[in-house]
Amino acid sequence: MDVPNYEDLHFVLVPLMAQGHMIPMLDIARLLAFRGVTVSYITTPLNAARIRPSFDRTTLSGLPISLVELPFPSADVGLPEGCENVDELPSRDLSLNFYEATKLLLNPLIEYLRDHHTPPSCLITDSVLPWTREVARAFRMRRLIFHGFNCFSILCFYNLYKHNVLESIASESDHLVVPGLPHKVELTKEQLRSSTLKELREEMREADETADGVVINSFEELEFEYLKTYRESTGKKAWTIGPVSLSNKDDGDKIERGKKASIDEKQCFEWLETKEPNSVVYVSFGSIGRLRPPQMEELGSALEGSGHHFIWVVKAGDALPKKFEEEPITERWMVIRGWAPQVAILSRLEIGGFVTHCGWNSTIEGLCAGVPMVTWPLFAEQFLNERLVVDVLHVGVSVGVQRPNGWLGEVEGEVVEREVIGLALKRLMDGGEKCRARRERARELGDMAREAMEVGGSSYVNLTRVIEDVLKYKSMVNVEEDGRDNEL
Ligand code: UDP
Repeated sequence: MDVPNYEDLHFVLVPLMAQGHMIPMLDIARLLAFRGVTVSYITTPLNAARIRPSFDRTTLSGLPISLVELPFPSADVGLPEGCENVDELPSRDLSLNFYEATKLLLNPLIEYLRDHHTPPSCLITDSVLPWTREVARAFRMRRLIFHGFNCFSILCFYNLYKHNVLESIASESDHLVVPGLPHKVELTKEQLRSSTLKELREEMREADETADGVVINSFEELEFEYLKTYRESTGKKAWTIGPVSLSNKDDGDKIERGKKASIDEKQCFEWLETKEPNSVVYVSFGSIGRLRPPQMEELGSALEGSGHHFIWVVKAGDALPKKFEEEPITERWMVIRGWAPQVAILSRLEIGGFVTHCGWNSTIEGLCAGVPMVTWPLFAEQFLNERLVVDVLHVGVSVGVQRPNGWLGEVEGEVVEREVIGLALKRLMDGGEKCRARRERARELGDMAREAMEVGGSSYVNLTRVIEDVLKYKSMVNVEEDGRDNEL
């Protein structure tokens, strides 16, 4: 069989500097490099330092991939020195400064690409970095968007915008039905409120509409109807190429994914080894989500009262209930303060349930591990992901939260009480018929996810299609340019 030669193709990946975007894009970079495509992964010095160990493992294996550090002028735009990642922002009020600073990467990026020995052929970037359009234009290359969302949420937002649904509803708390979907999906306007800055929305929309296609961290078998409807409604090329976290085959990659773990993994795994299969609940709210202190009290009490073993991941500055502060590790629980080796933990057989904020990466990582979930959305498209997990895939139990809490717990109001959380944990773990059905379904989806990523699987084939599409476009541009040279 002829092995295609892609060495003249150069993919340039520019993720937003936030863990939920950088981590899957690093996986995409690795998947492309495995195919022999040259890859430049663009970021800034402090972010590069975080992911360098993962990178070194990848490049050591001889893959054609470069980690490119462009200076990020935090101080010039009023950000604290060294604030190069969304998780370093001291307050949401500085978000716009952060996005302004990303625009200053434009010229250094163009210079880097001019000097590179392989001309760039495709840019994959976040829709929240609309300035990258200029780069694609300057080099006449394909531009693909990576939202970090699943097909379901991308289609929901597309339909809500197309039918002007949010503007036509006055009340924040009334339920609305998302139009044009294969299933009935109901949410409130407040749950759908975009976390995107309004100053950026128009630019982002334009960048989205003019992109050549989208790549999605999902797989066809998981949400085929949504993918199909999105393609039909928009006429856009859309390729599911995930779950990209499955590209982390090596234990080192799983353990040190995105950032150095704040716990000795050996200690964590030894603790897990003393537990029964499916007996431990893993609790995490992602890389930036935080709960306010009263909510932490309720959650801590519910976890303790559940009688199950649990691993609870909290942020460095979070106010933990006193008991957990004093005894972070006992036979019953393990508190990880900081960064957890999430993919490595989820893949352990002892993990029987996942309390998640429904960030899409965490959700699909949970699916890959075949673990049912308690869904507890906080912000962004997470309320939509909850609907997918609970109503469409039937692998989740909603904790019942109604109002977004913001990333930093900045929205006052709702505190989910310990009894309510306890009930959701009971439904997740009680071993009853519904619990077993959810677990079985989650396991099936995990198997399907792995098949999709194997050679010949749907996501593997889709990545080939992306590469072939870029190759075709590049040949067309070359023919045009040769024609123009001949005319001169
Ligand atoms: N993550 C991790 N350890 C942590 C917290 C997060 O490895 O302690 C990873 C997680 O596996 C996922 C990403 O960070 O890949 C978070 O992305 P997600 O979309 O779930 O949520 P976000 O952080 O964007 O809200």
